Amino acid sequence: MTPAVLDALRAAARPLEPDAGERAALMAAVHAHAERFLESLPERPTYVGGGVSAEPGFADAPGSIDVALAFVADQVETPGIATAAGRFLGYIPGGGLFHAALGDFLAAVSNKYAGFAPAAPGAVRLENACVRWMADLIGFPAEAAGSLTSGGSIANLAAIVAARDALDPDGGRAVYVAPTAHHCVDKALKIAGRASAPRRTLALDDRYRISLDSLEAALEQDRRGGVRPWLVVASAGTVDTGSVDPLAGIADLCAHYGAWMHVDGAYGGLFMLCPEGREALQGIERADTLAVDPHKTLFLPYGTGAVLARDGGKLRGAFSATADYLTEFAAHADVSPAELGPELTRHFRALRLWLPLQLAGVAAFRAAQSEKIALARYMHARLSELPGWEVAAPPDLSVLAFRYRPRQGDIDAFNERLTARVQEEGRAFMSSTRIHGHTHLRAAILSFRTHLEHVDAAIDALQDAAKALEAE
Ligand SMILES: *Cc1c(COP(=O)(O)O)cnc(C)c1O
Repeated sequence: MTPAVLDALRAAARPLEPDAGERAALMAAVHAHAERFLESLPERPTYVGGGVSAEPGFADAPGSIDVALAFVADQVETPGIATAAGRFLGYIPGGGLFHAALGDFLAAVSNKYAGFAPAAPGAVRLENACVRWMADLIGFPAEAAGSLTSGGSIANLAAIVAARDALDPDGGRAVYVAPTAHHCVDKALKIAGRASAPRRTLALDDRYRISLDSLEAALEQDRRGGVRPWLVVASAGTVDTGSVDPLAGIADLCAHYGAWMHVDGAYGGLFMLCPEGREALQGIERADTLAVDPHKTLFLPYGTGAVLARDGGKLRGAFSATADYLTEFAAHADVSPAELGPELTRHFRALRLWLPLQLAGVAAFRAAQSEKIALARYMHARLSELPGWEVAAPPDLSVLAFRYRPRQGDIDAFNERLTARVQEEGRAFMSSTRIHGHTHLRAAILSFRTHLEHVDAAIDALQDAAKALEAE
């Protein structure tokens, strides 16, 4: 290859390396765009239907940032649900802390290789410190370990694989799961090769929690029948009603019968940061493995979960592997995230978790969590007093399910139309679920941007929609 060819290629690739002036202009444009988005949140509809009207292009020539940002504003930020808005109470909200976006920016700029301790000792130390901080919140012992995952689904998968290798390497042992378990548990069992493990479906008590009697009966029946227990899956906050299973009682039964206790705390586990959460989550510290989601309960942008194991060796046993091209990385004081989960090259996730905790301080997170729980109790109390609304027991955490009882007609059909109407109006977003076979709306209060006025706006939207539907 001649120098002239190299020069030509280099010149053609030059747009990949903006200089300081170009970078400043790009940053200014992105910053202005982000500000317009954030400032629009209080007025933004919580749902915009209609989908996308333009396809993203892929041109050979360099494009302009203004054109790209206009596309993002119209085609990406506008349609669909406004998950960053304070009036977004659907599914499990996250919100997306601004400080975390800055952490992502820095992580992408330095592009430190956070999978291996010798490659990026500081990045790995930071991740391990974040994991340690969460393990301490939970009350796990010193030998606990874990890693940051892309979310709760992968955290649950990693935990279930660790449980499989530790207790059921040959298969044949039984799984105990409630119908309220998140569907990612089924996916994880399938990926782990345990889809056809003997499976016991647990009964629920009147507050949608695992019935301890039902779990004990299943374990006892298996003991008598010679089936050995493998895995009990409990929820620290279910998606439907936010119910917390009786974790301490489940831990007692797991210890007695020799079962692995896995807690799916993707929604609720990190409420251990606030006093009301600690009250509701007693016994969580006795789990063998735990999945949590900082992109829910610590308000981060999507893409951060964590798997924690009370005995870190169990995760390492399941996931550590060696490769010839990585041997120089073998021994290091810090355990590497790559040894604790299925991923090798991965986003440097710790910076988006640590930076907000540094900049806002831990107390701000604790207060925001307590505020969410108080708002859920407030919404529950208000709906209980309003005529027509049927609410179940007070929320364990910050999710509540409820429905409207129309004067006439089918209750489920009415609540389906009610959900659709509230969603389309865009004043507040709430989703629905089925509880004991019946349609209920649910409000999940978990955005750091959700405050009293947003909950009041949601209640007003519900009241107006119910009235309008009854008048039809
Ligand atoms: C959100 C959630 C999951 C799945 O986590 P992702 O982060 O969406 O992958 C699992 N279990 C519960 C209880 C959840 O709320």
